Amino acid sequence: MLNIIIFGAPGAGKGTQSKFIIQTYNLNHLSTGDLLREEVRLETELGLKAKPIMEAGNYVSDEIIIGMIENKFRDNSMANGFIFDGFPRTVAQAEALDSMLLNQNTNITAVILLEVEESELVKRILKRAIDEGRTDDNVDSVLTRLRNYHHKTIPVVDYYRAKGKLLQVNGVGLVEDIFDQIKEFIDHSRYQL
Ligand code: AMP
Repeated sequence: MLNIIIFGAPGAGKGTQSKFIIQTYNLNHLSTGDLLREEVRLETELGLKAKPIMEAGNYVSDEIIIGMIENKFRDNSMANGFIFDGFPRTVAQAEALDSMLLNQNTNITAVILLEVEESELVKRILKRAIDEGRTDDNVDSVLTRLRNYHHKTIPVVDYYRAKGKLLQVNGVGLVEDIFDQIKEFIDHSRYQL
């Protein structure tokens, strides 16, 4: 069982590196952003509630997020493990994840943090707005998302750093080179268990 968390500010390249990790290790991809965007697209009750929060760049409540993850765990086989992308974003979510994994007799294998400086992030996100048309990729929303990331999510990174499971990687460079560093760390971590 291999369970990986990938952290990084919006625009740090989490989606791109997740794809490489999934292909290499055959993991289930669990992106709370993707799950929420699907709810918004289907105009479900949850989606209608989440839409204005996401567009403003704020965090959807822990209760909604944890509920969504619990449903996913019920639906999905845990066979190979998961890559968590965009989750956990708060310490409360991290604690809920730990107990869900413990219930399945497993835990987090490795945590990756992609680091990219702020001016580069803003540049990348505004380019993504043009390429992909995400409605939350505008200047105001981006600045709110970066602020939330620093205030609420960096403490979660510290939570895993304290457990000795964290790799910090420079997220600027060739995607293949970045992935090589991630792969080396995951391979090392999985045999430590
Ligand atoms: P993402 O695609 O991961 O950047 O997520 C897009 C938006 O969905 C975020 O800006 C938040 O509004 C919301 N969101 C996604 N995941 C979470 C989470 N784990 N906790 C709170 N809000 C989330």
